[in-house]
Amino acid sequence: PFDLNGKAALVTGASSGLGRHAALLLAGAGAKVALAARRIEPLVELERQIESQDGRAIPLRLDVTDEASVRDCVAAAETELGAISILVNNAGIGETKAAFDVTEDDWDRVVDTNLKGAWLVAQEVGRHMAHLGHGGSIINIASVLGLAGSQRIPAYCASKGGLISLTRALAVEWARHDIRVNALAPGYIETDINRAFLASPAGDSLRKRIPFRRFGRSEDLDGALMLLASDASRYISGSVLVVDGAHSA
Ligand code: NAD
Repeated sequence: PFDLNGKAALVTGASSGLGRHAALLLAGAGAKVALAARRIEPLVELERQIESQDGRAIPLRLDVTDEASVRDCVAAAETELGAISILVNNAGIGETKAAFDVTEDDWDRVVDTNLKGAWLVAQEVGRHMAHLGHGGSIINIASVLGLAGSQRIPAYCASKGGLISLTRALAVEWARHDIRVNALAPGYIETDINRAFLASPAGDSLRKRIPFRRFGRSEDLDGALMLLASDASRYISGSVLVVDGAHSA
């Protein structure tokens, strides 16, 4: 039930971290993968890596905050790879600032990328999925910070909470098109972007509060991603799958 052979997937924010890892995972399971991010160079390198392992991938430039860019990217992905049946809506940015210091620009940047951006991509891919009538699976990469509060990261928490609400709304509306929409809510997963913080004294005290006593690794998301991407989750929609070593339990 976890076989992705012949399916086409779009991964946003595929140039680094969790998106890059998800693209390699899906390609390894047989999917043809459209790799999308703002910068094309790291995507070309990833394309080479996937093709050297007999996979199929194409690099595409995408700014999720720009509707025209989203439209062009989804059209190009379908022209090259065929109907997209899996979307990993992963592009996102962080922000760490005390709530009193967050400017309107800070707020707009985070919410535009994490919430409006995810919405624009889901809407465009969903439109294609509904039009072609094959259904599909949309996986919104949210965060446990969309479920529980934390200090000095208000816009991020709000954007991810909004993404979880959007997931539920689309799951209900698009079930008639056989489009499943779920959120994956990781806890703290070590990637280049947070490695320095997680290794700091503040990171260490955070780690001690995780029942598993360690931060997550990209591979810890593999089971959840494969479940949600594949037909194994054919009756799962509107769910939030938390992968956080029991941190928020
Ligand atoms: P990352 O910075 O390595 O990856 C983010 C990706 O998004 C990059 O490829 C970046 O180019 C892309 N991106 C940013 N803005 C974009 C835009 N406007 N258009 C297109 N692409 C854009 O960080 P990561 O840790 O891999 O995070 C990936 C996702 O996972 C994010 O949504 C993040 O909020 C979420 N997440 C991460 C963690 C964690 O601990 N690493 C935990 C929970 C959720």
